[in-house]
Amino acid sequence: MMEQVELLERVRAYDPHASEDLLSRAYDFSVAAHGSQTRESGDPYYLHPVEVAGILTDMKLDADTIATALLHDTVEDTLATLEQIEGQFGSDIARLVDGVTKLSLIEMPHTEETRQAENFRKLVLAMSNDIRVLLVKLADRLHNMRTLKFVKSGGKRRRVALETMEIYAPLAERIGMHHMKDELEDLAFAELRPEARETVLSRLKFLREQGSDLVPRVTEHLQETLEAASIRASVTGREKRPYSIWRKMERDNVSFEQLSDIMAFRIVVGKTEDCYRALGVVHARYPMVPGRFKDYISTPKRNNYRSLHTAVIGPEQNRVEIQIRTQEMHQLAEYGVAAHWQYKQHADHIDGNQYRWLRELREILENASNPQEFLEHTKLEMFSDQVFCFSPKGELIALPRGATPVDFAYAVHTDVGDTCVGARINGKLAPLRSQLKNGDQVEILRSADPSPSPIWENFVITGKARSAVRRFVRKQQRSQYRELGRAIVKKAVRETNRRLTNETMRRALKSLGRRSLEDLYIAVGSGDIDKATVINAIYPDPTVRQRAGKILSRMRPRIGSAKDRTDPVPIRGLMSGVAVHMAGCCHPLPGERIIGILTAGKGVTVHTIDCEALEQFNDMPERWLDVSWDASTYPHQMHVGRIETVLSNTPGSLSRLTTVIANHRANISNLKITDRSSDFYEFLVDIEVKDVAHLTGILAALRAESAINSVERVRG
Ligand code: MN
Repeated sequence: MMEQVELLERVRAYDPHASEDLLSRAYDFSVAAHGSQTRESGDPYYLHPVEVAGILTDMKLDADTIATALLHDTVEDTLATLEQIEGQFGSDIARLVDGVTKLSLIEMPHTEETRQAENFRKLVLAMSNDIRVLLVKLADRLHNMRTLKFVKSGGKRRRVALETMEIYAPLAERIGMHHMKDELEDLAFAELRPEARETVLSRLKFLREQGSDLVPRVTEHLQETLEAASIRASVTGREKRPYSIWRKMERDNVSFEQLSDIMAFRIVVGKTEDCYRALGVVHARYPMVPGRFKDYISTPKRNNYRSLHTAVIGPEQNRVEIQIRTQEMHQLAEYGVAAHWQYKQHADHIDGNQYRWLRELREILENASNPQEFLEHTKLEMFSDQVFCFSPKGELIALPRGATPVDFAYAVHTDVGDTCVGARINGKLAPLRSQLKNGDQVEILRSADPSPSPIWENFVITGKARSAVRRFVRKQQRSQYRELGRAIVKKAVRETNRRLTNETMRRALKSLGRRSLEDLYIAVGSGDIDKATVINAIYPDPTVRQRAGKILSRMRPRIGSAKDRTDPVPIRGLMSGVAVHMAGCCHPLPGERIIGILTAGKGVTVHTIDCEALEQFNDMPERWLDVSWDASTYPHQMHVGRIETVLSNTPGSLSRLTTVIANHRANISNLKITDRSSDFYEFLVDIEVKDVAHLTGILAALRAESAINSVERVRG
């Protein structure tokens, strides 16, 4: 058990400048706050934060993080307050402690659904806006797992173990901390599947007895082989952990009897070139097991893990796994982001390609001003792991997990996607709906003409492929409508037995408000205009003209009223005949990026692309429609935008508000007081505007008014 002096010594060993005063005060504060509390093991409670701090010293973390670890349970579990911590330790440490406390308060939903687990991991990541918060949380969890056996309630033990397996071990892996991930998994495995773990252990024991001292013998052998090739390397070997053996058995469906590669060896060398030299020597000396070689140096994992992996039939005729890496790669593999943190103390390394996902995460968290990018590129794709596939030319294409050859084709180029008719994966013909795996080589078979199938929409998973397929299908639909419309008009004209000149047609187009003949055909083909209306416009004899005029004058005011199903909806990207509603949460306006959400029986609800309400549809990509405003229609319509404004409670301030809005030719459709104090009024105002630019202009003018304290658009 570690006490104050030892903890200080450990920090001092890697950071001689760490503040001893800070650490001592945090230690004393924690001991005093936890007082006589005990853990279920019977130990004094304060030893838990000390152990957590100790785990973090293994990762050589900075003094603020160690202090945070010492204080991490004080706010939640004792009478100490965040204000006290801020007063005594400053705002940085208070912020970190607050972050850890908040993480402890969220509980994973009790559900077996893996999607839930992923969402929960996202939540934990999103809440750990300082990576050190996550590191303290992981260390906390590790110590709780090490002492899990003392927890009396079986239900609680199971819940904690399950949460560890599904949430915290994957998070540790994601930030590159393999060491911690392995231990967390194994401790959880012991709780969740004790009998399975026991079987693995007894098999390991048996294999060990068969070939005693196998690990040291193979280690020595590898070392000698490398030395003979004059490669300076340090070789270490170990038995794999029971959980990783168990998972391998489950995954590869091998029985215990077949289970032979239970040992893993690591060759650590000086330079990157040496990794490949060592690999060459190993493969020359021992037969390699096909299909097991992976080059994570030229293609690092998403968490920046780099190593060469291979498996060979080793010197004792056993299958052994070998990882080859440099010392630097090794540090990163063991301690991941924490190793990175050490470098960061000297220089800001978070740029460059180090921890790309972490940088993206930080950017998103810090840069809320770019919500479109957030939704379009990152939110949907960043958190799901990627697969890396190769084109026949060796080009590396990164795709979200679950991507298909069609996604691949569109990622290469839209034309490749549009003309895709089949695919070869690793040289073999494969269905277009196959899910690609890491390292697959994908060759797309193409036709001369574009022919995307609407069915693809059911299985493609990248936004690019989906919208390209939709766009093509819409275009095709348009050309079908055009042909149909042309046939209807021609037949109707023939039936009148009258002459048709270009001049009469031009006039008819004008009176029908159509820009081109093609436009008219599409309108007729899709049923927007019936053939009688067209004939009346072409041959406007007095009686017919009157009738047609009536129809037109009835139609005009209604054009663009989005509520009316038969009128043109000012939005592109919809199936014809579908009801459209503007979402009441975000009040989308023309000129803004928008997304349609399909609801069975209700139609399409249009949201702005950054509307918070879209969150709840994240896992239902099939309901998302790529839609956009139709610039040719919307200038004729008014749309409701909602603003929130605070006015000073002085005579005339409200009239300034309404005057400015009226001067901008906009109409107030609703006005509501939401708060009222002696100094200020707060209003919600609904304004009918042409588009987002119109509203922005009004907002700018309102901000210039002295009686208007603040004014913001309401969204979500
Ligand atoms: Mn704790």
